[in-house]
Amino acid sequence: MAEIPALPTHLTLEIVTPDRSLVTEKVDEVEIPGAEGYFGVLPGHTPLLATLQVGELWFRKGNEKFYLSIAFGFAEVLPDRVTILAEVAELPDDIDVARAEAAKRRAEERIAKPTVDVDFERARMALMKSLVRLQVSTRARSRV
Ligand code: ATP
Repeated sequence: MAEIPALPTHLTLEIVTPDRSLVTEKVDEVEIPGAEGYFGVLPGHTPLLATLQVGELWFRKGNEKFYLSIAFGFAEVLPDRVTILAEVAELPDDIDVARAEAAKRRAEERIAKPTVDVDFERARMALMKSLVRLQVSTRARSRV
């Protein structure tokens, strides 16, 4: 009789940007900001490839959740492994709050007073990135 492979009990999570590796961890669960919406991954998930939007990614190890801000890129999900190739990503400690607040103000001004020079979509993305960074920076390790 053919042996049924055991379901994986953990996920190996790898998060990299073109510049650096941010996370290599064995985790229990990941939530990913996919272009089609946020989706959760548990061990044994069906393989898939997804594009990423601007958003918050979290992963859980036991009872603790850890957050990152992510902007664009790709996610590869396998039953025992999640690889995030992000264009841009920051851990909470990387985030310069004053810089994110300045980016938020700039984007809000551009959106509030559009001129012919303003690329509205670019301003909207800048606003989303700044809001996600501000949110992630306030997240200490939180209990589930
Ligand atoms: P800004 O307008 O402040 O430059 P941005 O959204 O245009 O922000 P990105 O193009 O998304 O910046 O990122 C460029 C680089 O700067 C990336 O390495 C990113 O991690 C980093 N970065 C951007 N904003 C911040 C921030 N508030 N704190 C820490 N690093 C940041």
